[in-house]
Amino acid sequence: MSDVFFLAVKHQEDPSSIAKKVKYLYDQSGAGDVFSRGDLVAVKAHYGESSNTTFVDPVIVKVIINKLKQSGIVPFLTETSTLYRGKRSNAVDHIALANEHGFGFNSMNVPLIMADGLFGDAETEVAINGKHFNKVNIAAEIAKVQGVMVISHFTGHIAGGFGAAIKNIGMGLASRKGKLKQHSTMSPEINRSLCNGCGVCIKWCPQDTISMVEDRALINRDSCIGCGECLAVCNFGAVRYNWGRESGALQEMMAEHAAGVISAVNGKIFFFNFLINITKNCDCGSGGEVVSRDIGIVAGRDIVAVEKATYDLFRRINKKNIQDVTFPHVNPLIQINHAEKIGIGSTVYKLFELQSAEA
Ligand code: SF4
Ligand code: SF4
Repeated sequence: MSDVFFLAVKHQEDPSSIAKKVKYLYDQSGAGDVFSRGDLVAVKAHYGESSNTTFVDPVIVKVIINKLKQSGIVPFLTETSTLYRGKRSNAVDHIALANEHGFGFNSMNVPLIMADGLFGDAETEVAINGKHFNKVNIAAEIAKVQGVMVISHFTGHIAGGFGAAIKNIGMGLASRKGKLKQHSTMSPEINRSLCNGCGVCIKWCPQDTISMVEDRALINRDSCIGCGECLAVCNFGAVRYNWGRESGALQEMMAEHAAGVISAVNGKIFFFNFLINITKNCDCGSGGEVVSRDIGIVAGRDIVAVEKATYDLFRRINKKNIQDVTFPHVNPLIQINHAEKIGIGSTVYKLFELQSAEA
């Protein structure tokens, strides 16, 4: 059984007030005990796509960085490039956007170092014991650090049911090749009767594999990489996936890449999940509608236990599962259960509900 720590927040509580609670949670959960003095620790957060404002606030991330520094640990912010077109598809644009969102050196006092190089192809292979893979492709620098601190924003997710720690490191610290492999089973189709020929999907497709045929979009499936961007940008419901089959495989592959990251740092990793600004979609887009009141922060060493506790807390507050109010066709327990099956954690946990002086 794994220990998981939880601290409630008020709805729409000020980030500086939440930051004080995070300080307390950090101490109580033993977050710093995972690492040793002098360790180089990559802090993996999400700095938000250009249209996003609901990512975990830099004021909160900075508290965790400062706590690490106070223990003689050497933290830096890290990220990887996205597959899809946008402001985060290469290191230069990504760092510039992160700076705009408050994650520049001047405010954070640590650099943001892209773990997968300029274009996402700096990678290393890590051996794992998975169902889909016996080795996974993760961002090169992750295999060189002593540890990873994972700061995840819990949201709904169109392909995974929800996105939190497993997605943050499984997809978010995979190299471009690793990301492509995870999307390899995703195969979209366009329903011509719903398509109005607006052309937005053509503009966003990173493979240039959508063309206009008789005023309707058509995907050339031979060169489609399954990134899902067309699905995300189509406002007319014309792009369809076979969710039952394809989401399950993607979730399992994501969990297997998360296993690679954990193995690369010999288990020196800690997780904070923020159940705040819980939007229908993840921070790779605008986030969309808020589907819950703010709940709190979950922390722990076991990724599976932290994810399961996060999922359970949402249900406890809302009397519904996250997918019931976001994407009912996707069961996010697949990623949690698969992560447990491949041995990176336990769904059985003991929840310590903390009360801070700030509460
Ligand atoms: S974005 Fe949707 S409606 Fe517009 S062309 Fe593409 S599939 Fe058709
Ligand atoms: S057609 Fe394929 S490659 Fe292009 S955006 Fe859609 S999923 Fe991505």
